[in-house]
Amino acid sequence: MAGRLVLDGGTVVTMDGVRTEYASGHVVVENGRIAAVGPGPAPAVDGAQVVDVRGCVVTPGLVNTHHHLYQWVTRGLAVDATLFEWLTTLYPVWGCIDEETVGAAATAGLGWLARTGCTTTMDHHYVFPADGGDVLGAEVEAARVVGLRFMLTRGSMDLGRSAGGLPPDHVVEGIDQILGATSEAVDRFHDPSADSMLRVGVAPCSPFSVTTQLLTEAASLARDKGVRLHTHLAETLDEDTFCRERFGCGPVDYMASLGWLGDDVWFGHGVHLDDSAIALMAATGTGVAHCPSSNARLGAGIARLRDLKDAGVPVGLGVDGAASNEASSLLEEARHALLFARARGGPQALTVRDALEVATIGGARVLGWDEQIGSLEVGKQGDVAVWRVDTLAHVDIVDRVAALVLGDRPPLELLLVAGEPVVERDRLVRVDEQQVTDASREAGRRLLVKAGVAG
Ligand code: ZN
Repeated sequence: MAGRLVLDGGTVVTMDGVRTEYASGHVVVENGRIAAVGPGPAPAVDGAQVVDVRGCVVTPGLVNTHHHLYQWVTRGLAVDATLFEWLTTLYPVWGCIDEETVGAAATAGLGWLARTGCTTTMDHHYVFPADGGDVLGAEVEAARVVGLRFMLTRGSMDLGRSAGGLPPDHVVEGIDQILGATSEAVDRFHDPSADSMLRVGVAPCSPFSVTTQLLTEAASLARDKGVRLHTHLAETLDEDTFCRERFGCGPVDYMASLGWLGDDVWFGHGVHLDDSAIALMAATGTGVAHCPSSNARLGAGIARLRDLKDAGVPVGLGVDGAASNEASSLLEEARHALLFARARGGPQALTVRDALEVATIGGARVLGWDEQIGSLEVGKQGDVAVWRVDTLAHVDIVDRVAALVLGDRPPLELLLVAGEPVVERDRLVRVDEQQVTDASREAGRRLLVKAGVAG
């Protein structure tokens, strides 16, 4: 954005280092970055566009640290299954995806994330059918048209059922193919610049779908390229059993033995971690994408969020794929993080502001992007969410941060990414929502027919 945009009169929750809040304040965005944040009205400047945000809470845009966008078109399947049952049902369907399916699903999924306050999301894509075309290119294009900041991770699976893994053999790839394609994805898309809208990471899928050799070589590749590493870890007790039977240790010790701990690594879930695993992750700066809705939906358990935070483990939130979290609402994850943490650990287990922190600057830290995003501070990217809290659902609520975290999801008045509007008054502004909806419906129908699930 070349101009100067002033958000004036709202409650400003900065999530800066000392969690500064202004009951009535302003945020100024100029040339895509935050130019001023402070109390009271902004100083008048000729030519500035002033938006009256009285009745609203202004927060950093939310950051999603774990997702699988292609799953948007496979929601509502195996709705009462465990993770391993659910995966076994869905792998054959996912084996039929292609560039067109992924493009439509990603556009819809990204659109909904934006509608729920997300300005930056990662995606973990690990299913690459041989005839699927350019699925990563389709995702990148989806993020560009919707307008979100994006961390694309090139996932992979090379441990098929015949070799003792969980996925069927026809959805796994060979290790040379995986490493070549991952390297190519980094070279093609990764932009490390300060104003980057697109970064790339390396992300083999999980210990039960990936060989030890792939994990080791993927870590070397990521470090050669200077990009981040991600995988699913410690999600279920089934996985814990798998690791102990196959590798003779728990998942975190297994990853430690492969050089997979460090401040350039984050794991999706981290539900089943004992004290020593948490201490090891904290000591190495290894992050966690906490996915409370998905973990509850699949009955996997719930991560020890208070303990992770107390130990100093970087923690962000993830909606996880839409097939295990049909809501895919990032603000709902903040609410669930708080409710489940207190249900597990008592009333002091997580404060309302802790919940907003993990949804914003916490997530940015997990993605290694916290110098640019995650808080409202001068010089950071103009990624801002403006929530309306003066309607029937929240009017007169005393603590406006509690309106976000404990209340129902408020209307999203405005969402800016690099200062550009992506959502206005609960509508996507850069794409036609009806066209996105129609394309998603058609892609989902085609996929289920191709997979033999629907006629
Ligand atoms: Zn996942």
